[in-house]
Amino acid sequence: MRPPVLYPLFAPITSLPGLGPRLGKLAERLTGPHVADILWHLPTGILDRANAPSIAEAPEGRIVTLTVRVDGHMPPVQRHRPYRVRCTDHTGEMELVFFHVKGDWLEKKLPQGAMVVVSGKVERFNGLLQMPHPDHFAPVEEGAPPQEVEAVYPLTGGLNPKPLRTAIQAALARAPDLEEWQDPAWLERQGWPTWKAALAGAHDPKGEKDVNPLSPLRQRLAYDELLANQLALALVRWHQRRLAGRATVGDGTLRTRIQAALPYQLTGAQAQALVEIDADMAQPERMLRLLQGDVGSGKTIVALMAMATAVEAGAQAALMAPTEILARQHAESLADLAETAGIRLALLTGRDKGKARQQVLDRLASGEIDILIGTHALFQEDVAFRDLALAIIDEQHKFGVHQRLALATKGRGVDTLVMTATPIPRTLTLTAYGDMDVSRLMEKPPGRKPVVTRAAAADRIEEVVERVAAAIKTGQRVYWVCPLVDESETVDLANATLRHATLMERLGGCVGLVHGKMKGAEKDAVMARFAAGELSVLVATTVIEVGVNVPEATIMVVEHAERFGLAQLHQLRGRVGRGERASACLLLYTAPLGETARARLDVMTSTEDGFIIAEKDLELRGAGEVLGTRQSGLPEFRMADITVHADLLATARDDASLMVARDPDLETPRGQALRVLLYLFQRDEAVKTLRSG
Ligand code: ADP
Ligand code: MG
Repeated sequence: MRPPVLYPLFAPITSLPGLGPRLGKLAERLTGPHVADILWHLPTGILDRANAPSIAEAPEGRIVTLTVRVDGHMPPVQRHRPYRVRCTDHTGEMELVFFHVKGDWLEKKLPQGAMVVVSGKVERFNGLLQMPHPDHFAPVEEGAPPQEVEAVYPLTGGLNPKPLRTAIQAALARAPDLEEWQDPAWLERQGWPTWKAALAGAHDPKGEKDVNPLSPLRQRLAYDELLANQLALALVRWHQRRLAGRATVGDGTLRTRIQAALPYQLTGAQAQALVEIDADMAQPERMLRLLQGDVGSGKTIVALMAMATAVEAGAQAALMAPTEILARQHAESLADLAETAGIRLALLTGRDKGKARQQVLDRLASGEIDILIGTHALFQEDVAFRDLALAIIDEQHKFGVHQRLALATKGRGVDTLVMTATPIPRTLTLTAYGDMDVSRLMEKPPGRKPVVTRAAAADRIEEVVERVAAAIKTGQRVYWVCPLVDESETVDLANATLRHATLMERLGGCVGLVHGKMKGAEKDAVMARFAAGELSVLVATTVIEVGVNVPEATIMVVEHAERFGLAQLHQLRGRVGRGERASACLLLYTAPLGETARARLDVMTSTEDGFIIAEKDLELRGAGEVLGTRQSGLPEFRMADITVHADLLATARDDASLMVARDPDLETPRGQALRVLLYLFQRDEAVKTLRSG
């Protein structure tokens, strides 16, 4: 149960002054539902009113405070045009610019001829200094604005700084004094303030230094968040290990048969992963291991080998996939091998109903099925194994921690192996999977032809079309990707429909089109024609990212490549290079390229290694954005930024494991304080693993 001392922080955000139903909803979307969430909403900059130049000297793009005379009001001549107020000082003239305001209100606030103080960000437009939506404006008699330095927060449309600030101040006033959870010696060495002082300071920056993520204030807050993350993972791991496990050792007979039936040798990486898995399974503790390997790195056969060990030991194994299609694909690709080896394998998905389903369940309970492959359907209560020893979960990020553990409850001392194709940088592995041991398949099976990748300016499109024309004459197939066009977006985006039409004209009728607005069945039909070779070129928006396997496809053209993220480009390129022939990926960009876009294209042309690409992605984008946090199952941090606080993360990991080794049930005074930290960051699950949780 959440400790009462934290109750005020978990009150709804709408209980804060200034946040009624309407603004409350906006604030909730911006920061989260609880008072604590608004406290984690830290300023990203400061407004320094000490910066008070004349109009002529006002630096563009900066926040300044100007003392000016109101010369004239210029109401909009048309709807949706801004309302302008012209002002002057002894050095020149400028305009205050307002959208959606009532003119009479402005005339009262900024009477003609009055001297006023205005502050806000200034820009220059056609040589004229403008201040769109001043943060502050008042007659000069009212004096300077209340504070010289003010925090600047990320905002959302409709929510102005003022009510947000009021709410944050109120939230700060409600922040309780909490027992210190950090090691005092470490705090002292770092020169960090208490939690409460750090929060108060972060929301009341005295200068640029206080919004720097490396300032003591910010580091303290980031470290708290990271420690909560690492401690939660360490506890779950420790307590899961404490549950009785079992030693599973095979005699190698089934594996030998599978190996003999395989048309290839296991790679060194696969063999190494199996050594690690075997060692874990042989231990009397439970295995909790992550098998990480890029798409096509050959995780499935590793899974089968591990499951064979469980079967050799006289027990059963389960393999769970997130979708029906993936589950079927696994079952199909493993069925022959399993049969040859004498392993009884079955499939159970949500589609199985009635008698057929019952039959599978009966055979599973009696032990006539050795390996069960399936979807979420495996969680269902009436699915009972005779003796489940190994649970494997594919594409683990599609499942929650809870689901991951649920399958393990269907047996005795079940070992768990989770697999993911999402290449995650090492630093992030720690935050997402700190509770697991990791095996990585860094090496791809041999025989894969590299995909030659080139970046070229879009004005060379004619050469590309010629190359495509030549390729399709020899029976090759081509993907042509255009960014998805959003109607409301600008026209300069390459439009898939238009491209489809021009390519049809050049290449004849063999060009198909798929895009996100088409119905599922329509899309499937076009894809099927492309796979069958009726279409040679497939113009597509990024809908082809997932689940497409056409080995004859050898060229991937991406238009406006500068608009795609690295992870996306990597996924797209993965669609080619699947067959016998050499493949190419052509990234067309529209000049001029920004620095980051240039760097992304350089990464793409220099490596095909998903892990290196993921690392670069992290460098270029910041942790929160890598692969899309939701999609990859990575935790979101509110105050920590892995790209800057990587050292703190490593320290937090060590701190957490030391703590768990010394005080696994968090019973010492520091342990008790750390429980509060876990609740503060909503790691309630972890506290539940404690003996007296
Ligand atoms: P993923 O890691 O994406 O799940 P798969 O397990 O589906 O990859 O393997 C991709 C392909 O590579 C399959 O066709 C599989 O048969 C093949 N493969 C796996 N291991 C090897 C190997 N050691 N040598 C050659 N081909 C392999
Ligand atoms: Mg797979």
